[in-house]
Amino acid sequence: AYKELNEIQQHLEDYFKDMQDLEFTIQNGKLWMLQTRNGKRTGAAMVRIAMEMLRQGVIDAPTAVLRVEPEKLDELLHPVFDKNAIKKANIIAKGLPASPGAATGQIVFFADEAEKWAAEGKQTILVRIETSPEDLKGMNSANGILTARGGMTSHAAVVARGMGKCCVSGAGELQIDYKARTIQVNGFTVKEGDWISLNGSTGEVYLGQVATKAADLSGDFGQLMDLAGKYSVLKVRANADTPKDAAQAFAFGAEGIGLCRTEHMFFEGDRIAAIREMICSDTVEQREKALAKLLPMQQGDFEGIYEAMEGCPVTIRFLDPPLHEFVPTEEADIELLAKDMGKTVAEIKAIIASLHEFNPMMGHRGCRLAVTFPEIAVMQTRAVIRAAINVQKRHPEWNMVPEIMIPLVGEVKELKYVKNVVVKTADEELAAAGVEMKYLVGTMIEIPRAALTADEIATEAEFFSFGTNDLTQMTFGFSRDDAGKFLGAYYDKKIYENDPFAKLDQIGVGKLVKMAAKMGRETRPDLHLGICGEHGGDPSSVEFCHKVGLDYVSCSPFRVPIARLAAAQAAIKDAK
Ligand code: PEP
Ligand code: MG
Repeated sequence: AYKELNEIQQHLEDYFKDMQDLEFTIQNGKLWMLQTRNGKRTGAAMVRIAMEMLRQGVIDAPTAVLRVEPEKLDELLHPVFDKNAIKKANIIAKGLPASPGAATGQIVFFADEAEKWAAEGKQTILVRIETSPEDLKGMNSANGILTARGGMTSHAAVVARGMGKCCVSGAGELQIDYKARTIQVNGFTVKEGDWISLNGSTGEVYLGQVATKAADLSGDFGQLMDLAGKYSVLKVRANADTPKDAAQAFAFGAEGIGLCRTEHMFFEGDRIAAIREMICSDTVEQREKALAKLLPMQQGDFEGIYEAMEGCPVTIRFLDPPLHEFVPTEEADIELLAKDMGKTVAEIKAIIASLHEFNPMMGHRGCRLAVTFPEIAVMQTRAVIRAAINVQKRHPEWNMVPEIMIPLVGEVKELKYVKNVVVKTADEELAAAGVEMKYLVGTMIEIPRAALTADEIATEAEFFSFGTNDLTQMTFGFSRDDAGKFLGAYYDKKIYENDPFAKLDQIGVGKLVKMAAKMGRETRPDLHLGICGEHGGDPSSVEFCHKVGLDYVSCSPFRVPIARLAAAQAAIKDAK
């Protein structure tokens, strides 16, 4: 019976050209086949099966590429537990698999302690009842995040996925006592400093230190990615704001940076103080003083990003800070700022009050900032050009072409105004250094009016990058920050099937993208086109971008392999 079963399974696999999930029975020595279907599989198995069948000549290369579901690659991109170590480990709780991967570390309960311990070289797991934006830096310093409350779209889950960091959320059995710094769970008591380990792909929480292994990007996965590269027409870039994220994106095969959000470079330490000073300046002189502090920080980061990308194109987006995210709210921070700026606390509070906006997302952000305070664009241009000159000197073999992107444009004249500031400053910098270097000035298409007037915008812009986060927000009239509150009702009532911020709305927002791409290229046939909203890493949106003829998609580093595979699949389907 075994011999017969073996022959039949081989026959079925050859016939269906895919791994089979068989049901059979042996009764009185006779084999009965009950059912066969293509087998379900994990991400790792999916890649291995496709590549083995390709090597065995069972399927051809395009079929192998089409066999792998892009989303499932996510599992392969994160550390995993060492197989032997995990066998001996004890599970103490189970939560939701909020962000994949494996992590081990010592328990800390507070975000600032996660930072402190990490600075001392310790490995930590940040354990919170739930997380909030103040925990961001601590989350970044920890190896993993564990929360007692919160679902798959809780703050902890969403932020951890963005960081590519392991997270188990909603482990409701945990009784966390912040005061005593202990967790009671299923008869165990663990305390601050004790080791625990998390499996963010299954939601399991283990007692003790369990050895982890870095993701293996070679072997079948590497071959699949090489194959994807052969078929795709779209290039894949990454959204990265730090040299570390850029290096991660490069390791995943990003062919450039499509969006470097410069305001994200200022969240940390003394940097936030300098940017607060800039925001709260009430004279040009004061602002220029603050900007002078920011310039070397930006230039250093840009050099780091250029180096990490080894000469690949990098698009640097000029400041687009929703001001409310940066102004100080804590009394101590306000006092500090007042002292730094030689003002009274009351004066600083008055400035903060004057900055209050009812609708910050539609407020004084993006290029509006550079229109009102052109000295900001001057500083940023200097930082970009000086960084590029330095890196070009260090690496004569690279062809540095800085790309400067002006955000939130809705009218060609405002783009022209900011572009003039950029061009004048860049040319002065290059002349002073005695260097000849090409640079590009482009814009984001993220306001419906920019899409509607793309033919005019393209007279000034040398490239377009579709900012589909804002374009979705403003086309639907949904707040990016608040839509979650009511979208659930829209899914229940079958008005919408998907979150339009995750999957591009091809009918509405997509129509604007398609139209703007066409109109832009009519004005400027060599207009370079990309997308840098969250949709750049969503497979169905990537397929749409291929169809409308964009040159690249840009997404967060951990989605780069997913986008690369989706781009190849779109091209293969298109050629069929
Ligand atoms: C966008 O709006 O799509 C975009 C990429 O910019 P941000 O998310 O920074 O507003
Ligand atoms: Mg935007």
